[in-house]
Amino acid sequence: MGTHFMLFSPPPLTKPHQPLHLATPPFPLPQRHYTASRKLIRANRVHSTSKFGNFLDLNPQNQPQALDFDLLWCHPSDRSRFDVIIIGAGPAGLRLAEQVSLYGVKVCCVDPQPLSVWPNNYGVWVDEFESLGLENCLDRTWPMACVYVNDGRTKYLDRSYGRVSKRKLKERLIEVCVSNGVRFHKAKAWQIEHQEFESTVLCDDGTELKGSLVVDASGFGSSFIAYDKVRNHGFQIAHGILAEVDDHPFDLDKMVLMDWRDSHLGNEPYLRVTNSRFPTFLYAMPFSSNLIFLEETSLVSRPVLSYMEVKKRMVARVRHLGIRVKRVLEDEKCLIPMGGPLPRIPQDVMAFGGTSGLVHPSTGYMVARTMTVAPVVAFAIAQCLGSTRMIRGKQLYDKVWNSMWPIENRLVREFYSFGMETLLKLDLKGTTSFFDAFFDLKPYYWQGFLSSRLTLKEVVSLSISLFGHASNPSRFDIVTKCPVPLAKMMGNIALEYIG
Ligand SMILES: Cc1cc2nc3c(=O)[nH]c(=O)nc-3n(C[C@H](O)[C@H](O)[C@H](O)COP(=O)(O)OP(=O)(O)OC[C@H]3O[C@@H](n4cnc5c(N)ncnc54)[C@H](O)[C@@H]3O)c2cc1C
Repeated sequence: MGTHFMLFSPPPLTKPHQPLHLATPPFPLPQRHYTASRKLIRANRVHSTSKFGNFLDLNPQNQPQALDFDLLWCHPSDRSRFDVIIIGAGPAGLRLAEQVSLYGVKVCCVDPQPLSVWPNNYGVWVDEFESLGLENCLDRTWPMACVYVNDGRTKYLDRSYGRVSKRKLKERLIEVCVSNGVRFHKAKAWQIEHQEFESTVLCDDGTELKGSLVVDASGFGSSFIAYDKVRNHGFQIAHGILAEVDDHPFDLDKMVLMDWRDSHLGNEPYLRVTNSRFPTFLYAMPFSSNLIFLEETSLVSRPVLSYMEVKKRMVARVRHLGIRVKRVLEDEKCLIPMGGPLPRIPQDVMAFGGTSGLVHPSTGYMVARTMTVAPVVAFAIAQCLGSTRMIRGKQLYDKVWNSMWPIENRLVREFYSFGMETLLKLDLKGTTSFFDAFFDLKPYYWQGFLSSRLTLKEVVSLSISLFGHASNPSRFDIVTKCPVPLAKMMGNIALEYIG
């Protein structure tokens, strides 16, 4: 391959091969302190040989893995009836199965691949998993996180971050499920039919499973859940790779929550302009000097930013950082619907996880929240279907839906969605000023906001405090660009109270 002297002959204006935004989401609807100056210099060096070329051509080398477990299979010939049928063995479905089964409730979990290791790379704040006793399910932690606001300013966050061990978490949840007698069925749920006190799940292998409650935990692409409002989600889109590299410029004791620097786009005028309006950042987990997870991320866009655009920006950034990707071990396309209305509450299928509106509307995070909320929902289910009581039908649906979405949580979510609507309106400058002010808030507030654990009163205080911390241009942005989202939020809040 030839050598490109990029410093001296800037590449021609990059023309997009795809539109910047996709009109329809690719779902059936179903991601200042510089320590060592040497590192900085290296990070800013523009590399000029093809060896820093396009890692997008490299195929992921790791094979999908499966767990080795003796599951209790469901035998359709038993004609057994279940208390709860959970569709999906993702983090949400298995966590709920684990929690419900603790009460002796009879559970069946349906998934086409119940033993395969989940594909996504999950990050959480360590304190979130510690408070749930799940810290053993993290395979790597970093004592700090950092946010590169721009080339001259980096913020250090004194909060440990961890990568979830997909294998360990799934093993732990399945172990409890197995010891509590949860049955598994290897199939895809295809249709759900309801009678007054019972529902039937029809599977693609012809099996019919009957239960008092069906929980849809089949992820964002589900079509089992009904909405009575227009689904105007924002979307997080990201391209991530777990890569073996020669070297990289990041400190091993800090994960990079957001790197908003755009100096890599100096020779990419087209990408620079679009990035200024619809910014993306780098999220990075440095495991060692030769192994790193890198993910170029559009925090939220509507319509969704083109995946090709995200990938091109990532190639330019990785090249600029002087990172030579030797091997791609895993890659992931991250597409997360964020915000938008909640499903109709209640309805005769219970939603949980990605289908239920639990995703944080301003960040796209959900794993820790799901782990936290599952015990609450499980308790409500057990109150209705446990050994002492038999509440089914409408009363059951009402109780279970409201355990997950009590009025206060719905109102708090309106504020988080307002956060998302605000972010949608901000360009690169506005976004970085926003986060500059956000991470200057008291840790109780920014940490509570990111972990969805603030009360309504606290979220209101946070909003006022954030406005107080914001720079004058940011305040101007908020005042001029956000009256409509603000009015919508107030309208929704009024509806919730009146309704
Ligand atoms: C690439 C990516 C990265 C993410 N990273 C993070 C992160 O770092 N931190 C975080 O907090 N959140 C993250 N999220 C958001 C969210 O936590 C994940 O999407 C999470 O996987 C959602 O869990 P879930 O169990 O609801 O759905 P899923 O993980 O999608 O699991 C759904 C399960 O249901 C099964 N299924 C689907 N249809 C059917 C059917 N018809 N019948 C039976 N089974 C079915 C699937 O096979 C799958 O096993 C990420 C999302 C993505 C897409």
